Amino acid sequence: MNLDGFETLAIHAGQEPDPLTGAVVPPIYQVSTYKQDGVGAPRGGGGTGAGRWIEGYEYSRTANPTRGALEDCLGALEGGTRAFAFASGMAAEDCLLRTVCGPSDHVLIPSDAYGGTFRLVDKVLRPWGVSYLPVPMSQPAAVRNALQDRPARLVWVETPTNPLLSIADITALADVVHEAGALLVVDNTFASPYLQQPLALGADVVVHSTTKYLGGHSDVVGGALVVTDAGLGAKIAFNQNATGAAASPFDAWLTLRGIRTLGVRMDRHCENAHRVAGMLAAHPKVAEVFYPGLPSHPGHEVAAKQMRGFGGIVSFRSAGGEAEAVALCGRTRLFTLGESLGGVESLIEHPGRMTHASAAGSALEVPGDLVRLSVGIETAGDLLEDLRAALG
Ligand SMILES: *Cc1c(COP(=O)(O)O)cnc(C)c1O
Repeated sequence: MNLDGFETLAIHAGQEPDPLTGAVVPPIYQVSTYKQDGVGAPRGGGGTGAGRWIEGYEYSRTANPTRGALEDCLGALEGGTRAFAFASGMAAEDCLLRTVCGPSDHVLIPSDAYGGTFRLVDKVLRPWGVSYLPVPMSQPAAVRNALQDRPARLVWVETPTNPLLSIADITALADVVHEAGALLVVDNTFASPYLQQPLALGADVVVHSTTKYLGGHSDVVGGALVVTDAGLGAKIAFNQNATGAAASPFDAWLTLRGIRTLGVRMDRHCENAHRVAGMLAAHPKVAEVFYPGLPSHPGHEVAAKQMRGFGGIVSFRSAGGEAEAVALCGRTRLFTLGESLGGVESLIEHPGRMTHASAAGSALEVPGDLVRLSVGIETAGDLLEDLRAALG
């Protein structure tokens, strides 16, 4: 029997009923330290569960059973061998970059990278001696040329990207990147493992902001790394403990609670976003719509090949320019004006002045007339009516 369908794993992986009480949900081990049975004899190591990576539980920065349950579930959902849960997506990114890169190393980042990723690389890692080059990841030939010009330690890819929803062909990039001896990292936040599994397509590391679709309810901030290579996993484990930005037990528990409904939520996010994108594409006040589910989107075919659905994020340019785009963000009633994405409730924002303000003046600056929607799972007709009224 293969009881390993995605939704089954989301509900059961890492989540065996508690051996002591039979509690069907992993308890919150809200604890910093653990009684040891003797010097050098901590409990709970080995076995087949989350304890298999450790000699036993000593201190919760190093390992905690609730965080371990989340990590095992994330590893199963992404098809990796080992996963790590962090206090935020940025903490996960920082841990990975500082595990893999050192001074004088070079990295390629997407030319429309998430603003926080750009800020981390440009403002924190560059002064430490890491150099970077923004490259359009939707063009594998551009990546190949950049790697021939200057070898890189790793290539960082987002697909779909934030906020312009461009699509990178993960399989094609894996060939190019591995040929050059670099690591392929995919930030899978926008798709979630339900829609896209980068490791199976050739990526070496998956990064998540679990704050978004995995948590799914806008009530917890977290991040994750998932790998297949055991050696890289061991290095990340060492650095996660050494630098200390691990997810707290309660945050891990909340994230795992969100993950159990990921599949049904994503289906509805995709359905609603598709309807919103279709309405916007036909609206006279909208100049351009960015949604990989539209056949007119340049990445549509690649997205259809590597994703199970096209996701819940839709961006568009207002025909009225920047001032109208800003004003529009204040006129919706259901779409709440706010940063972040991936929760059950719909959000609207102006990337140029909000999430991507830190990219202003750089190669990664986003158009001023751009509006980004995180389409929630409310009644689709209500979402369309709200947007139509706000567009006027
Ligand atoms: C939000 C986000 C991050 C950062 O995650 P945090 O949990 O906010 O630290 C990274 N990548 C993408 C694509 C994101 O949307």
